[in-house]
Amino acid sequence: MRPWAKRVVLFGIDGAGTFFEQADTPNMDRIFRHGAVCRRVLTEIPTISAECWGSMLHGVDCQRHGLTNWLTGQRHFPGDSLFPSVFRVIREHRPEAVLASFCDWDNVNYGIIEENLGVHKVHARDCDLVQPAIEFIHTHDFTLMYFQFDSVDHEGHAHGYGSPEHLMAITRNDAYIGRIVESMEKCGLMEDTLILVEADHGGTPPDSLGQGAHGGDSDMEKYVCFFAAGGGVRHTELQDMLVRDTAPVMLYALGIPQPASWNSRVPAGLFPDHMKDLPRPEGLLPPVPAPCPKPEKGLFMKQMADLQPLMYLSFESMDSLPPHARQTGKLYLTEGIRGRGMRFDDGSLSLDFPLKGGSFSLTAWVRPDAAEGGVPLMSLHAPGCPSSVLDVTVTGEEHLMLTVRTSGNVSLSMDTWLPPQWKKTWMFLALSFDTQDDVAGLSLNFEPFLRQRTDGRQLFPECADFRLFLGMDGTEDPGRRLPGTMDDVCLYRGVLDQQDIARLKAYYTE
Ligand SMILES: [Zn+2]
Repeated sequence: MRPWAKRVVLFGIDGAGTFFEQADTPNMDRIFRHGAVCRRVLTEIPTISAECWGSMLHGVDCQRHGLTNWLTGQRHFPGDSLFPSVFRVIREHRPEAVLASFCDWDNVNYGIIEENLGVHKVHARDCDLVQPAIEFIHTHDFTLMYFQFDSVDHEGHAHGYGSPEHLMAITRNDAYIGRIVESMEKCGLMEDTLILVEADHGGTPPDSLGQGAHGGDSDMEKYVCFFAAGGGVRHTELQDMLVRDTAPVMLYALGIPQPASWNSRVPAGLFPDHMKDLPRPEGLLPPVPAPCPKPEKGLFMKQMADLQPLMYLSFESMDSLPPHARQTGKLYLTEGIRGRGMRFDDGSLSLDFPLKGGSFSLTAWVRPDAAEGGVPLMSLHAPGCPSSVLDVTVTGEEHLMLTVRTSGNVSLSMDTWLPPQWKKTWMFLALSFDTQDDVAGLSLNFEPFLRQRTDGRQLFPECADFRLFLGMDGTEDPGRRLPGTMDDVCLYRGVLDQQDIARLKAYYTE
């Protein structure tokens, strides 16, 4: 691969969608006069920042990178992920490369771009990023510089996307871009620099309250503009581009091959030596744990006794259900992860158990087969304190969500995207609630726990008795049942930690 550019600059304009076309952008008009443009780049759906920026920087769809706005505020992107960001790929090819990220929305620096890569990360309001960026350009021979400007999205939310305020913000961002590019021109860098401008998503026009939103799949939300100039790109209009194709474009310009795991590609016609319209590669899928299918011989309760299992459902036979289990509809015993499991298509279970307050944890193997519009996996209620409710749901196609409501309000919500092959495979879910410190933990497929504080709002304050719903939520609506199978549901007294999870993993996979 020949490199077309020595360096790449990507200006990401949050919430600008395709509204560049309506805004006054004299600087961009000048910079991209002889460049390439795509006026209908399809972004990720849902049209939410973490999903879209995640795809733009990691070259895969959101089900693969798994990022949500919540998740990007909780943990650093795993440095060993199958889906590296463009920063990590460049770092692995060029250990000495200078990489920088100037972000207004700090979640990008915290949770989307990996830690420990030596990326120069700056966080400030977009107007305050311009001067530090110019100084950086004067003092560093950089390879990749990324910007995330957030004020356009703020104006879109406040006044509607396409409103005069929103368009004015794009014009202000255009001026920032102009100043930064001008400083590169002064340094004589333009000869071998690829300049990109792109939005993560758009948004809706002013509603009855004069405000805008995004997240949906309307044209104004899901299409964005992409501009490219320098670095050998042709003067052309691209037709078929996804937001996740941006990452391959950056690597291609630098002469670095893209990872085999990415399911994105350089749009045909953008570079002179890449004219053929090749299909997007299928990429790779994230690994799922491979459970070892052994018969259940009552070993779980023996081996895990010190984890204080309070209630263990092996689903080996209908007789093995606790006597207080209440069944509605029809339940089927079928192949499980260990011995048999239980199918919940036509029925559900509710079980009462005493906990007498204190911390608790729950683990379960789940294999949901379809999730149109959102299906409940399980729900935990305390009949003595009806104001607290915990729900685990699969919303949309491949989106797992844990919510806790106290007094009718959502006091905690944790969510992530699931690997695309999850419909046909089992996933191991572990929840943990520390009622002393009011911290909730969620772990998927034996990954480290993600933990979140509930900001002083107590989960199930002083509740003695609990009711666990499996395959449905507390509404017991037969129309909202889980089309799928569960196995080895276990409730524990106390908080599970990472060591406990490692033991459970060993039990199931060795
Ligand atoms: Zn956004």
